[in-house]
Amino acid sequence: MSEASDCLFCKILAGEIPSETVYSDELIYAFRDINPQAPTHILVIPRKHISSMNEAAAEDEAVLGQLLLSGARIAEQEGIAADGFRYAINTGEHGSQSVHHIHLHVLGGRQLGWPPG
Ligand code: AMP
Repeated sequence: MSEASDCLFCKILAGEIPSETVYSDELIYAFRDINPQAPTHILVIPRKHISSMNEAAAEDEAVLGQLLLSGARIAEQEGIAADGFRYAINTGEHGSQSVHHIHLHVLGGRQLGWPPG
């Protein structure tokens, strides 16, 4: 678990590390993944530092709802909604979470396999 002060995505939110903005509002921010795993690969993050879904609390319900709803709107804007897309929120070690600030992966633009590796 990282603290906000040394969190990569908090630095992106602060503009200290550049990112390609896809969507922004008072609760969330979306940007393109630097190492895309599909033709469209966007990360949607809460502005509030929450390390993972393991740390999310009832008070985070609104921001997490906004995260999910915004991901679908972004998929529509990106032109991947009709063919379908994938959400992923990697959590913890077994979930292969590498950045400890909740992020919704929105992946699409090709046929995705299942189950994930
Ligand atoms: P996860 O492995 O689920 O924690 O996902 C972290 C994601 O952050 C990976 O897909 C990385 O490619 C992505 N990432 C890491 N650094 C950056 C960055 N500076 N800008 C955009 N995406 C990044």
